[in-house]
Amino acid sequence: MPLQRSPFLLYSDGKGNIYEDETLYALGRAGWDAFEVPLSDWIELPDGGNVYELPGRRGIGIDVHTGEMRLCEKGWAVAAFIPPAHTGLFLAAYETMDNAPTLPLFCYTAIGWQNDAYYVPAVRIEKDIRQECAGYDDDKIAAGAAQLLQNYPHNRLVKHLMENCCMTYHCPAARNFSLGRWECPVPSSPACNANCIGCISFQPEEESIVSTQDRLTFKPTAEEIVEFTVPHLLEAPYPIISFGQGCEGEPLLMWETIREAIIAIRRHTDKGSININTNGSNPVAVKALCEAGLNSIRVSTNSARKHIYEPYYRPNNYAFEDIIESLKVVNGYGGWTSINYFVFPGMTDSEEEYEALRKLIRDTDLKMIQWRNFNIDPDWYMGKIGVHETGEMMGIKQMMDLLREEFPRLRYGYFNPSIERIRGDYESDFAGSERYR
Ligand code: SF4
Repeated sequence: MPLQRSPFLLYSDGKGNIYEDETLYALGRAGWDAFEVPLSDWIELPDGGNVYELPGRRGIGIDVHTGEMRLCEKGWAVAAFIPPAHTGLFLAAYETMDNAPTLPLFCYTAIGWQNDAYYVPAVRIEKDIRQECAGYDDDKIAAGAAQLLQNYPHNRLVKHLMENCCMTYHCPAARNFSLGRWECPVPSSPACNANCIGCISFQPEEESIVSTQDRLTFKPTAEEIVEFTVPHLLEAPYPIISFGQGCEGEPLLMWETIREAIIAIRRHTDKGSININTNGSNPVAVKALCEAGLNSIRVSTNSARKHIYEPYYRPNNYAFEDIIESLKVVNGYGGWTSINYFVFPGMTDSEEEYEALRKLIRDTDLKMIQWRNFNIDPDWYMGKIGVHETGEMMGIKQMMDLLREEFPRLRYGYFNPSIERIRGDYESDFAGSERYR
């Protein structure tokens, strides 16, 4: 139900209890500043979303009587973790107290309360239902995991995916693999050639936050990869196998093994899509994978600007230009190219970023933007990359609309598309498409 006025600000008592403050309307944040959120941007918090209290932070709101901006002194600020397939348009607005702890690696979207419901400024950017929490049955997942471990008793990768990823980290991709459907994760690299500030698989000891999962500790063989991916491609609906997962380093460091696996897989079947999620650091390796049969690439980036990208990725032996080249290489082979675009309101929708992204799309003939919520403490991130002010901003939604107008064939989403969607009717051939017929 569209809102007639802004929702009330929320605060916590520091013990996990959340309350609305009916003297303050909720605001949003972009860059370092608080803003009133357009009423049309608020949607009910989608199923699967979470609400977080932010210790050492006071929420900023609009006084319902005076219209003045002021802090909520009643408790800690609150933010929303919005579920996959949705993109947040504003961060939570708060003031950080001295000695406040760095927040863990989650996204912190604005949130408010009205009509007995949580509201967030967000859009559903992806129709595909592959990570909807309503679609996960824990009993079926446990049974599927046990069956896969039985089917592949000597496969270290299946053991890692089922015991760690599926049953411990509850990774949505590993759970879909246990259910024999859609996108199957294939981690392969224990090492990385970048040092991302917000790396989810490795955080240096001196940092106060921890990585959300541990990195793979072994190098799988091509045989181990082929053994379970061929049956998945043959049997699963909308099958995709994806190298490059959150529980590893950089897959291109294992390109020879991945090439060998792709060649062997394509000897067995031409079904489905073979995708790689990567930092795009090695275009020569990417070329070799395209020649072996790679169908699609997703290059992760926090920005289309070199001077914003490199302070975040802190690359060892490559540069921003290499990731652009990797996208061009796959495009040259007729493959599908996406960017895994970490959305940070105030940075992403700045005029400078918008111009740089237009250039990236034109230069690489990019096929898709996956508008992903950036899982990082906003103050920590901007402090670490040295951004003290963000310049003119246009709003994430407006930016999406402008790019869609200029590049009508450019697709928006949150997940790697299946081959049926890439080669077929993009708007009607995907997991859950029956819901839209
Ligand atoms: S590229 Fe991936 S694995 Fe490597 S440091 Fe960055 S987030 Fe971590």
